[in-house]
Amino acid sequence: MIIKTVDLETVCGITSTIPENTKPEFAFTGKSNVGKSSLINALMNRKSYARISSQPGKTQTINFYNINDALYYVDLPGYGYAKVALEVKAKWGKMIENYLHNSPMLKCVFLLIDIRHEPSVNDKTMYDWIVFQGYQPVIVATKLDKIKRSQIQKHIKIVRTGLGIGSDVTVIPFSAETKQGRDEIWELISDSANS
Ligand code: GDP
Repeated sequence: MIIKTVDLETVCGITSTIPENTKPEFAFTGKSNVGKSSLINALMNRKSYARISSQPGKTQTINFYNINDALYYVDLPGYGYAKVALEVKAKWGKMIENYLHNSPMLKCVFLLIDIRHEPSVNDKTMYDWIVFQGYQPVIVATKLDKIKRSQIQKHIKIVRTGLGIGSDVTVIPFSAETKQGRDEIWELISDSANS
């Protein structure tokens, strides 16, 4: 995909109204520090347009990035950050739920999982919850460069087993360092945006 323009068009807080966009939307979610900003930057061909967090768990907004005036990347708040109060976590949950419920242009939800680790209870809950909301998430297994090539299949299997998913669910290994996997994600986005 050729990225011509990128614009952070809307930032939604807990009390904001979700924008009624008329172009396809692609949402990204995952545990904080999983590499979500790095993935979004890579998919925008930018180094640091989406903020790379030095303070995990700080993003409490849903950010809508207009890409080429053709589609949106939707950056959902990261979850699972231990230091965040329960009540704040519940508010984020409501915010994400509200978005998933009220977004007819949402084509695909990407759930990011660190390829090195077994999915956490939070990851599994998030996966099940996205499915419950009526979407089939695509899994992006991040930080691919951190494991040996010979270990990739083993780790993907651990991710699949941990989430309880079968071969019908797409898992794309990705590295923000080498950009491996980026073309596959772009292709999926382009196909889905144009269908
Ligand atoms: P977020 O909190 O999910 O948005 O995660 P970030 O994109 O801010 O990344 C968290 C940390 O992981 C940062 O130090 C990144 O540089 C690092 N990181 C993210 N993706 C990769 C990757 O693919 N490979 C490596 N080696 N590090 C990564």
